[in-house]
Amino acid sequence: MTNKVDAMEEIENNAMILSPKGEMITRGLYIKTYGCQMNVYDSAKMSDLLRPHGFTSVQSVDEADMVILNTCNVREKAAEKVYSELGRIAQIKRSKAGNMVVVVAGCVAQAEGEEVVRRAPCVDVIVGPQSYHNLPELLEQAKRKKSWVLDLSFQENAKFDKLLPDSGVQGVSAHISVQEGCDKFCHFCSVPYTRGAEYSRPVSQIYREVAQAVAMGAKEITLVGQNVSAYHGDGNDGKPWSLGLLIKHIAKISDLQRLRYTTSHPRDMDDDELFDAHANEPKLMPFVHLPIQSGSNRMLKAMNRKHTWESYVEVIEKFTDARKDIALSSDFIVGYPGETDQDFRYTLAIVNAVGYAQAYSFKYSPRPGTPASSLENQVSEEVKTDRLLVLQDLIRLKQLEFNRKSIGQEYDVLFDKAGKGDGQLMGKSPYLQSVVVNSDTNMINQIAKVKIYEAGQNSLKGEITNM
Ligand code: SF4
Repeated sequence: MTNKVDAMEEIENNAMILSPKGEMITRGLYIKTYGCQMNVYDSAKMSDLLRPHGFTSVQSVDEADMVILNTCNVREKAAEKVYSELGRIAQIKRSKAGNMVVVVAGCVAQAEGEEVVRRAPCVDVIVGPQSYHNLPELLEQAKRKKSWVLDLSFQENAKFDKLLPDSGVQGVSAHISVQEGCDKFCHFCSVPYTRGAEYSRPVSQIYREVAQAVAMGAKEITLVGQNVSAYHGDGNDGKPWSLGLLIKHIAKISDLQRLRYTTSHPRDMDDDELFDAHANEPKLMPFVHLPIQSGSNRMLKAMNRKHTWESYVEVIEKFTDARKDIALSSDFIVGYPGETDQDFRYTLAIVNAVGYAQAYSFKYSPRPGTPASSLENQVSEEVKTDRLLVLQDLIRLKQLEFNRKSIGQEYDVLFDKAGKGDGQLMGKSPYLQSVVVNSDTNMINQIAKVKIYEAGQNSLKGEITNM
């Protein structure tokens, strides 16, 4: 059987070799992405980085010469899920006589470190979210050292400098990272430990990347970061620019048609430029993801969120003052340590009061190393499950109410794929609702006006009124 070192050498040596006809022999790269849009962005970048080394995307581990698990540490039992996936990958690697390189990237890699290879010896490279730009060198090092390698360093600016200018973000709807890391230290969250301190990319660098994505066909750009509302990158005048100023500047790219941003923190919402952009920049979509986590001020304090129900509602009022038709989504945690029935009722109350267009809700689960994980007043699983079911019922009800208000409206819909039925197309409304139409014309990658005539829980139906 080929050992790990030989397998690494074979992959690396073959990656750039030419066939007798002089064509490059390519190798299969399979990336499995967990979690947020930041990871989706990072996976696309890793793929870009490895393309010049002869790696092209394949659809399964079986076809792959290299597998990357780009992991997320936010959800429950995240590390365990990665280890169980690595167990399956190890079997496939054995069935290929070891001829496959396995990389663990992302926040679980950052949090677990060497523990990854101790529990999953099939892994060749462990790389954190701030150091994956070193992936080609790490593969080379592993080959030289004839052993697994690890890089968990934090060099945010070095990363973005190295990823440019050869960043091929593709697709009609592209996500571009503007900011990384977080200084908020919410007591349940591991992001400040896995992604590091808040770092904002310079405006010129982001503008260049957006312009390139638009030139490659993107019509919609979502600016992503753990905490985009804390954005303060160097502007073109040498001063720090806010998110609002960045959005106004990017909106000048003429072929760009839609702009979004996520995720925001209610505490940073003091950027008048952002509200002004919502009022006056039609390319900025009227839909904002604004996590509150709990409706109880007592819980918000315990979570170290540094905002209250009242300050959150004030932020929403600023949005609706800027633009009447703005809609919101949010994140909720139920069963945070110490949460009482009364605290939970406040969460239900804020969902009722705001009427979210959609929301994500989760049972609290401890993240190793976070302050909340060592608290003793943990809520039982049974209570957490009951509360989650009640909350999700209410969220679904509000979503359905919101969708039903769409009936009779005419929305600009960006079509991005075929629907399930014959002649059907699917796209997204300004509020990220899925919209299905029947059309004889292929409108994929285009925006058309659609009159909505039916609304379900998760999608709308409509007819195109212009082409
Ligand atoms: S704001 Fe809180 S929840 Fe969001 S990334 Fe920062 S620490 Fe985590």
